[in-house]
Amino acid sequence: MSAINGADMSIQDSSGEQTGGPRKAGGRLIVLTGPTAVGKGTVEAALRHAHPEVWVSVSATTRAPRPGEKDGITYWFMDEQEFARREAAGEFLETALVHGMSHYGTPLQPVLNHLAAGVPTILEIDLQGAHRVRQRAGELGLEVFYVFLAPPSFQDLVTRLNMRGTENEEQRARRLETAKVELASENQFDRVIVNDSVDKAAQALWEVISKEYGL
Ligand code: 5GP
Repeated sequence: MSAINGADMSIQDSSGEQTGGPRKAGGRLIVLTGPTAVGKGTVEAALRHAHPEVWVSVSATTRAPRPGEKDGITYWFMDEQEFARREAAGEFLETALVHGMSHYGTPLQPVLNHLAAGVPTILEIDLQGAHRVRQRAGELGLEVFYVFLAPPSFQDLVTRLNMRGTENEEQRARRLETAKVELASENQFDRVIVNDSVDKAAQALWEVISKEYGL
C-alpha cells in the first residue's frame, strides 16, 4: 500500500519524461460516471485497450477483492482504518460510501501528477464522487469534463446487474434503488454517452478525450 502516493506512482509517459510543468494546455480531467452496472468499467477497459496512452486513476476501496482483482492495479485494497487515516491526511480528491457498504476514494497526488505531465487522465467513479469533484475542483484549480454513461433503458441495468452475478439479491435491490435516483441527474453533465455498444461508447469517450487533450 505504501506505493499509493509513493515513488512508483510517479509519471513516465511515452516520451520517458518525469513529471514537470504542463506540456499541453487545455487537458481537462475527465470524470466518467453513471449508475451502477451501466458498464463504466467495461467501457474504460475497452478505451484503455485501444488507447493505452490514457491513464485511468486507481481508486482505493475498503471492499474485498473479487476473484482476479489485483492490489494496485484494479484498486488499492485497504481496511476501513487505513482508508480513514488516508482520508484524514487529505490524500483523496474525493471519497464516497458506495451502496451504503464500502468506501471508495481517488488518490489526489497521482491525478495531479498525470495532469501536470499532460497525460490524458480519467476517473471512473460513482455519482456521489463526481458531485464531490465538482465541489472541490475550484479549490484545487482543476478543470474537469464530466461524462455520464447512461444505459439504453432501466431494464437494461436490471439485466446487467443480474448477469454480473457479483451481488446478492439484497445488494442488487439496493443498487437499483440508487440507480433510479442517479439516472435523474444525467442532464448535469457535459456529455451523455449511451452504452448500447461497448466499442461505440469507448469510441465516443475517446473522441471527448482527444478533443480535450488536442490529440
Ligand atoms: P465496484 O465495487 O463494482 O468495482 O464499484 C462500485 C462503484 O464504485 C462503481 O460505480 C464505481 O464507479 C465506483 N467507484 C470506483 N472507484 C471509485 C472512487 O474512487 N470514488 C468513487 N466515488 N466511486 C468509485
